[in-house]
Amino acid sequence: MAQVSSQSVMDALSRVIDRESGKDIVSLGMISGLAVKGGKVGFLITIDPNDKDKKSYLREACEKAVLAISGVDSVTAVLTAQNAEPIAPAPKSGYTQPRERAQWNLTPVENVKNIIAVASGKGGVGKSTTAVNLALAFAALGKNTGLLDADIYGPSIPRMLSLSGQPEILDGKMLPHERYGVKTNSMGYITGDEAAILRGPMISKTLHQLLRMTRWGTPENPLDILIVDMPPGTGDIHLSMVQQVPLTSALIITTPQEVATMDAKKCAQMFIKTGVRLSGVIENMSYYVDADGRKVSIFGEGGGKRLADEFSIPLLGSVPIDVSLREASDTGMQYNGKSQGVYLEIARKLTQ
Ligand code: ADP
Repeated sequence: MAQVSSQSVMDALSRVIDRESGKDIVSLGMISGLAVKGGKVGFLITIDPNDKDKKSYLREACEKAVLAISGVDSVTAVLTAQNAEPIAPAPKSGYTQPRERAQWNLTPVENVKNIIAVASGKGGVGKSTTAVNLALAFAALGKNTGLLDADIYGPSIPRMLSLSGQPEILDGKMLPHERYGVKTNSMGYITGDEAAILRGPMISKTLHQLLRMTRWGTPENPLDILIVDMPPGTGDIHLSMVQQVPLTSALIITTPQEVATMDAKKCAQMFIKTGVRLSGVIENMSYYVDADGRKVSIFGEGGGKRLADEFSIPLLGSVPIDVSLREASDTGMQYNGKSQGVYLEIARKLTQ
């Protein structure tokens, strides 16, 4: 069977004409989040929120055009009404905590009460592991919890929760996958093992749609907490997130090592400058307990506390190196080792 390429899908879509402007929908920049896996194709069609009814014919037209490509057996086109550009919060300078929520004027995410960003400066410090286990802890505390994998280039939540497959669509919205009582969505579910190759503006659109076009909750049963696993660093995705999403707070993950805390500091400064409240630091891989029960500080000591003190925010908890935590992350099993109590304690502190 012929291989379906992204280019052949874009070529087919470029023959779909927007009736009002007479132009093709690809050159109008209406297509984003294209994912091709075997014979399955998925993408998003962005329209103006006021044109919802007028443009509904586009979904069918796009699906028909793509289905005509040899080798395509299913097409999922999501028609999305992108909200008007939100007003970015005024930048703040300095290290001090913002006193008021500068993000108050951003469009809320439908049926989501709180959004907490989990961020780190460096990769590999255990940010995704922390995001997953915190989400599980919130769920264990009886909170209606969601987990958004905002690491569009390197999504790791699908592996950590052992989930795959494109989300089903209901009334134009993606239904999140659910594992251990946590609802999740990730670019990884849409693209499978294929890495997403997206340019800057597409990244922002894709994130927007993963966040706002997922049915996280309903008016009767809204999500209490949505944990967002951010990519490492302070790039395009972070800017989109802080400029478009009303975040309740951000959590900074670091190891005790100075190279990690230095990068974590830059990340914390970015949140502060854009008016996002920092709720605290979590130190991961704090120490290792050897066979004789001795604590060994492999990555040094006190980095998390120093970082927290610098920003006058609490060190919410310290998680030691635990082989069973790594095994749980790698295999998608639910972690129930010694540090589970630390995650529960952090979740309790954050809900108080
Ligand atoms: P990041 O999201 O910061 O890139 P990950 O959460 O993917 O980091 O973690 C990187 C690796 O370290 C993973 O293999 C994970 O299982 C492992 N890991 C994270 N935290 C711990 C810990 N406390 N003890 C043992 N292994 C850990």
